[in-house]
Amino acid sequence: MSESSSKVTADHLRRDAYLYVRQSTLYQVANNTESARRQYDLRGRAVALGWPAEKVTVIDIDQGQSGASAADREGFQRLVAEVSLGRAGIVLGLECSRLARNNADWHALLRLCAFNDTLICDEDGLYDPATINDRLLLGLKGTMSEAELHFIRARLQGGLLAKATRGELALRLPTGLVYDAAGNVVLDPDSGVRGVIAHLFTTFEATGSASATVKAFASDALRFPARHLTGPHAGQLYWAPLRHDHVLFVLHNPRYAGAYFYGRRRQVTDAEGNHHTVVKAREDWTTLIPGAHPGYISWEQFETNQATLTANAAARGEDRKAGPAREGPALLQGLVVCGKCGRRMSVRYHRRCEGTLVPDYTCQREGIATGTPPCQSTCGAGIDTAVADLVLQSLTPLALETALAVSAELTERAAEADRIRATSVERARYAADAARRRYLAVDPSNRLVADTLEADWNHKLRELNDTQDDYERASQDDAATLNDQQQQRIRALTADLPALWHAPATPMRERKRLIRLLVTDVTLIRSSEHITAHVRLPGGQQHTLTVPRPLTAYEQHTTPAATVALIDELMADHTFDEAVTILRERNILSGWGKPFTVPSLTALCRARNIPSLCDRLQAAGMRTLAEVAHDLGTAPDTVKKWQRLGLITGRRVDGRREHLYHPGQHCPGDNPRRDATLRRYQKLSDPTATISTARSSDQQPDKASVSIRSSIEGAV
Ligand SMILES: [Zn+2]
Repeated sequence: MSESSSKVTADHLRRDAYLYVRQSTLYQVANNTESARRQYDLRGRAVALGWPAEKVTVIDIDQGQSGASAADREGFQRLVAEVSLGRAGIVLGLECSRLARNNADWHALLRLCAFNDTLICDEDGLYDPATINDRLLLGLKGTMSEAELHFIRARLQGGLLAKATRGELALRLPTGLVYDAAGNVVLDPDSGVRGVIAHLFTTFEATGSASATVKAFASDALRFPARHLTGPHAGQLYWAPLRHDHVLFVLHNPRYAGAYFYGRRRQVTDAEGNHHTVVKAREDWTTLIPGAHPGYISWEQFETNQATLTANAAARGEDRKAGPAREGPALLQGLVVCGKCGRRMSVRYHRRCEGTLVPDYTCQREGIATGTPPCQSTCGAGIDTAVADLVLQSLTPLALETALAVSAELTERAAEADRIRATSVERARYAADAARRRYLAVDPSNRLVADTLEADWNHKLRELNDTQDDYERASQDDAATLNDQQQQRIRALTADLPALWHAPATPMRERKRLIRLLVTDVTLIRSSEHITAHVRLPGGQQHTLTVPRPLTAYEQHTTPAATVALIDELMADHTFDEAVTILRERNILSGWGKPFTVPSLTALCRARNIPSLCDRLQAAGMRTLAEVAHDLGTAPDTVKKWQRLGLITGRRVDGRREHLYHPGQHCPGDNPRRDATLRRYQKLSDPTATISTARSSDQQPDKASVSIRSSIEGAV
């Protein structure tokens, strides 16, 4: 004790003591109170070593946290922080394992303690990590602590694993399978449960999609069984609407195919100490025993379902492949590849005026990611038709006869190859027999020769074995030839195919499924003139189709160039309303096939930069009302009046009777003849009124009126 005490210096005592308290699980916290009491008792140890009671800080916020990683342990992180800042004189814990079950965390703490001259105290003693002996001991204790965790786990799991490997470990069964009295797995005795699960599998087979299965269940108002796992109703059955994750669970679960499995998933811990569950590849599963108990589907059907699900899932992700064939009319949905960047193109639909849905193929993935315009995009109607024609053409009876002839030829060649392979097996067998005879013929006591001949015989036997294996494998590969009945059916189908394809009753989804059998993918490159489609067929064949680029809406609705030229001509000396009248008389229509109106003609002129009559006259030097009023030093209304009287001349330029005026006109007051006309007009209209616009009393008579009046008065 004295040696221990001698490690404590005044410098340590000046700093605080930290007592770290932890129990791994909440169950331990609640029930293992003895351990907790011992941990808190260490506080007394700190006081005995010389720390005042108020300088002992207890960190116990990690209760119920495992010591396997520091990531989630706030208290441990705080402890490390305090040590790093040099505030801790001593760290107390009941045993090293309370501090860390993970060597990396433990050694980090040790290094920090050594660096900051912090002591460590557990139930067994007091350690100074700065000295090599203590540090060695602490390191060893940490290693033991981590190893202890491993051994506990290994002991617990070893028995389980051994049982699971033999397929004897009883695991929780999915709904629809139960243990009978003898502990064997059997189908659920409830025929309702069995019926629904069987229905799920048949629905998936028919639709080929988990989502479609969910939809089918929902539209038929079918519910799916499950059992309560815990609580007062544990083991009891309840029915709930089928969900997508249920379907995937059922389809991916090998137990429905009668297979026992264990160790399909694995726990991994990432660099930040977070745990994740990872599904292992099937060859890495601990156990997989097909045919271990009765199931709802065969193992072959299970494999088929997995393949379908994998193909469906491939519709998502980085390199997307064709997803399940859907109802929309885009024939090449999921098969189109962008010829510019190599990514999969997606389908969009737009509705034409007459109501038909038209597919568009768009390469927009990069565009969405980077906020730029799509790589390329094109209307798909023409391409769909061209590819369908190509496929139907390539399935003509003549092409089929050729294919069948080639198939027969291949069969013959396969038979020939088979004969050749058979002879090599025969050769190997003869060599092995000869080696055996040589070996039997030699005197067994002549060890030297007998050993060599035995080795030779063994070698020849191995060769025979390999040759036989090769032969069987190759024969199996060649076995897939067509018999007469199959050939008949194929011929019949080809004759029917075009009619079947074009029949309105054939759902689009079936056409798509057919196309997927016959086309691997279609690569599109759109140029300004046409679209090039490279069609790849499953045999590795390639076809290149060129389809004229469909007109854009803009191009379809553009006014013909001749009409535009005519409008340009008309605008030279007609206002918009006059031009519209002329165009209507000549029965000339706009790009949308409608008669022109003043607004549509105005918009067209603005869009095509065709100057209006007003623009042209102004460009030629004619003056607006405001300008001419300014020139003459009078009000616009007066100018209009003068124009009505014929005193100045102008030209109407639009339907609202707006005028432009010829330049270089003079005030009527300068012209005696016009003055006389004006006087006559004055007398006729109102002998007592002045000429000034007396419309409103608050308006000042303008300069021009005054000058006219004065000139009139002067004349009188
Ligand atoms: Zn692209």
